[in-house]
Amino acid sequence: MTAPSRPPQPGTLGLIGGTRLVRLTAASERTGCDIYGKCEFENPGGSVKDRAALWMIEAAERDGRLRPGGTVVEGTAGNTGIGIATVANAKGYRTVIVMPNNQSAEKMQTLRALGADLVLVPPTKYADPEHFVHRSRRIAEEMDNAMWADQFDNQANRQAHIDGTAAEIWDALDGRIDGFTCAAGTGGTIAGTGIGLKQRSGDVIIALTDPFGAALYNYYACGELKAEGSSVAEGIGQGRITGNLEGAPIDTQFRVSDEEAALAVQELNTGQGLCLGLSSGINAVGAERLAERLGKGSVIVTILCDSGFRYLSTLWNPDWLAEKGLPVPTGLRKPH
Ligand code: PMP
Repeated sequence: MTAPSRPPQPGTLGLIGGTRLVRLTAASERTGCDIYGKCEFENPGGSVKDRAALWMIEAAERDGRLRPGGTVVEGTAGNTGIGIATVANAKGYRTVIVMPNNQSAEKMQTLRALGADLVLVPPTKYADPEHFVHRSRRIAEEMDNAMWADQFDNQANRQAHIDGTAAEIWDALDGRIDGFTCAAGTGGTIAGTGIGLKQRSGDVIIALTDPFGAALYNYYACGELKAEGSSVAEGIGQGRITGNLEGAPIDTQFRVSDEEAALAVQELNTGQGLCLGLSSGINAVGAERLAERLGKGSVIVTILCDSGFRYLSTLWNPDWLAEKGLPVPTGLRKPH
């Protein structure tokens, strides 16, 4: 049986959003709950960030920061850049992307394939002027008719999830939802989806699921922005309250290790044919913890942020997994 077909779209931008929910079967069975993942890899740029890219670019068009023939400039771990290049190509803008050089080779190749000008910088702390965020802002300032997307502090990012993600989840489940959780990079997804769901029902519990190495778990648990440990997950892990996280309605928080997340994506892959990136694994583990917390019969939703095919050289490569001390799935083990 296949899913019902969706209406034809006049252009690429109409393919952004409207993603489907899939039941995460093993976690649902273990907890006696219905745990659903929102398939953000269905977006044309392949990730949850297409939504933010479209909303930020259209907000800039409306307020005159971006005019025909212009350039969109952004600093990103990759997926936002891919989303921006996708939307910019569809609308006829150029794209300049500044990215730390430790992100997956697949994301860099994808950005080049989309025609983005790629500027690679060393991975440094936010306080360093060479950090990808600051470097991208300076590049935009030095160009004519260029817009700096500023995904961390530009609230058009979370608005995409208030208008889109939250509304879609609510409609798909006819309002039968008890909890939502995901990790934060910019925080746009957790804050926007949280705000949108709470507007519909104050009873929906919103949980942040943080990787190690991020400071938000401690912030929401005890008011202190303090990071412990580290993570190799790309696109998530925040050390400050970004503009998108301001006032986010977070009720509770979990912290998940890379090992737990890797086992979760491996289970989703071999168990039900969903090959995903590591942030989706962090989210899936968080969703299972939230289900345990809320009790049998609860309905929980999380985000499947992007596809594992974006990480064939890392998360789905046995040498990389072994180097990072992460479990290697049987299917990837080399014959001795
Ligand atoms: N997962 C991945 C793979 C991402 O690239 C991002 C975006 N940086 C996120 C999760 C988190 O999304 P957000 O920026 O909305 O917090």
